[in-house]
Amino acid sequence: MRFDRIAIVDWSAANRPASGRDSIWIATAEGEVVESMNPRTRRQAEDRLRALIDRTLARGERMLIGADFAFGFPAGLAAALTGQAQALAVWAWLARQLRDDAENRSNRFEVAAAMNRVLPGLGPFWFRPAGLDLPDLPAQGRAREGHGMADLRRVDRRAPGAQSVFKLGGAGAVGSQTLTGLPVLWRLRAAHSGRVAVWPFDDCRDAPVVLAEVFPSLLRTEVAALRGSGTEPINDEMQVRLLALALAHLSARDALAPLFEVPPEAWNLAEEGWILGVGQEGALRRAAEAVLGRVRPPEGDAEPAPLTPPRLRNDCFAMPQGVSWVPVETALEKLRAALVPVTGTEVLPVAKAGGRVLAADQVARRSNPPRANSAVDGYGFAHAGLAGGGPYTLPLAAGRAAAGQPFAGSLPAGQAVRILTGAILPEGVDTVVLDEDCARDGARVAFDGPVMRGANTRRAGEDVGEGAPVLPAGRRLTPADLALLSALGIGRVAVRRALRVAVLSTGDEIVADTDAAAEPHQIYDANRPMLLDILRRWGHLPVDLGHAPDRPARLRAALDRGARRADVILTSGGASAGDEDHVARLLREEGQLSSWRIALKPGRPLALALWGGGVPVIGLPGNPVAALVCTLIFARPALSLMSGAGWVAAQGFTVPAAFAKRKKPGRREYLRARLNAEGAAEVFASEGSGRISGLSWAEGLVELPDGAAEIVPGTPVRYLPYASFGLG
Ligand code: AMP
Ligand code: MG
Repeated sequence: MRFDRIAIVDWSAANRPASGRDSIWIATAEGEVVESMNPRTRRQAEDRLRALIDRTLARGERMLIGADFAFGFPAGLAAALTGQAQALAVWAWLARQLRDDAENRSNRFEVAAAMNRVLPGLGPFWFRPAGLDLPDLPAQGRAREGHGMADLRRVDRRAPGAQSVFKLGGAGAVGSQTLTGLPVLWRLRAAHSGRVAVWPFDDCRDAPVVLAEVFPSLLRTEVAALRGSGTEPINDEMQVRLLALALAHLSARDALAPLFEVPPEAWNLAEEGWILGVGQEGALRRAAEAVLGRVRPPEGDAEPAPLTPPRLRNDCFAMPQGVSWVPVETALEKLRAALVPVTGTEVLPVAKAGGRVLAADQVARRSNPPRANSAVDGYGFAHAGLAGGGPYTLPLAAGRAAAGQPFAGSLPAGQAVRILTGAILPEGVDTVVLDEDCARDGARVAFDGPVMRGANTRRAGEDVGEGAPVLPAGRRLTPADLALLSALGIGRVAVRRALRVAVLSTGDEIVADTDAAAEPHQIYDANRPMLLDILRRWGHLPVDLGHAPDRPARLRAALDRGARRADVILTSGGASAGDEDHVARLLREEGQLSSWRIALKPGRPLALALWGGGVPVIGLPGNPVAALVCTLIFARPALSLMSGAGWVAAQGFTVPAAFAKRKKPGRREYLRARLNAEGAAEVFASEGSGRISGLSWAEGLVELPDGAAEIVPGTPVRYLPYASFGLG
């Protein structure tokens, strides 16, 4: 049992929208990072949970959702109510009976009274609020008689502090949470049949999403340890964060399986269910202790930002009506506004984080250098101990200061001590004189003045002071960044998971495999190897979807596969609006296509769509030259934004042209180019969009502006080396 994400829900049966204490809290932990949200109503909570599930399924990941109310009732109730001795039958019954509106008004007391009516005697549900006319629901527990049910399930007797599900209100009651919570879980399970399983009623081994009952009070001691310092955190929030992190901790170590093993005394499991972790409290509490330091939300986050999985609107790529040719800049602005970061986070050791995107701002844990030290090999002394303008002769103290071997004790004024590069300055030393400027005889050292106070030393923190902000969230970590973070004592960083980008080539004429024979009417797939390699160089995770012919069923299947396995899909070919443009047609019919005719050469058609519940599809032109240009100009910033690294623009250089060209206004042009020996830009002889050799010949692109241009040798032009697009 391993999960990519753990969500823990603290449910609430509140009668009106609520936040803060005693409202709904949902914590989600991924790796070592936890976030919490506080939906104000049960409807909102259901939406949030559904979005989390959709997202998990869309990415082919696994999620455990723990909810803190009873999944089953004491043995006997299910059969009496539904004729089946199964908790899930009660879930279905409740889902039909319970009304719960957008303002949190529910009929749970009426439903409990109806359940009581099915059973003999009076009860077992009780706690009727004053003013409700429900004779079948007693106000007091002791008024109940003859209903035949035990108050507690087997598992409740094993969980100290667990209360009877039949008590609907009062301190610590869970009955109302159960009646309002189970219908929500039933709907989530029903909406994703077979993919959302309920433990221990369903077979959970291969289900992508598993729902389980949890009891955060199992960790009450650990939660108590979190209280008492600074601003008082909300207990409910701390509990769910702690439990989510503890379970994620166990999952990361592949140590969750024992919690899912059914204890021997759970003979009536299908009816009563079980609480995850009861019977394994030791392992759970040890995990909680291990994660305690990461539970508190960041200071100053009084109202935690809701964790809303980003969802794109269906019309997000739509251009305003009447726009026919879209200027490149307009298209870029539109893309930038439509997209959001979609990658989750994980915590990695710095040594493994190169090329990844920081998920949080980094602050220096210690100063660099941590202490004042010597910049040279020489002799150290107190500047204040020098008399007159020099030359000076100082007696040498015994011992020395070297890097990693500090001088023991403090140096009296008027003496000097041998000191080497990187050694921290001994107490009493603030100035160093260079070896080469000294004469010495073993007992004394002599040097000339004037000497500046602090000469040849490095101040503590002169590079970076402890607590200083160093690298911002969104930064893609360079090798130098790893040096900086390590020097500042930052050993682990929260980083974004790599963006998964699927690549699909389309077209009946394409042969995907260069080892296969190609007929004269066929061509080998040139785009896919190029695009997969580009994605890898950009730090994304390429997902190879292979090739699909121009048949809707095959294209649909390939896009479905892409939506399951990736965060975004790149296709090439079939993206214009013509008869043979099958990708565009399928996306239009089934994927909310926005086809942009971009005022760009080469390129033009760029298809943008959402597939399979919100996975963006970028439909590139089929021509390899146009496919590359559109990838560099549009896909690069779009993917960077989605990966969490922010929007990027390539850096251009103005160089003289080594060619002549006249260009009409109305569209931007990119020419395959490279610099000649004089540093001027020469361009590939043919502008034909099918000339792949020109792509390979070139080392960058010359960008000609949207307006008219008359270029002769020597005219300044904008040159964008491939390296400016992150390609070496
Ligand atoms: P399309 O965008 O489908 O009209 O294709 C435009 C041109 O690009 C056609 O000549 C296609 O044969 C060619 N083409 C499409 N996909 C590829 C590919 N993966 N590799 C090489 N050429 C391609
Ligand atoms: Mg085609």
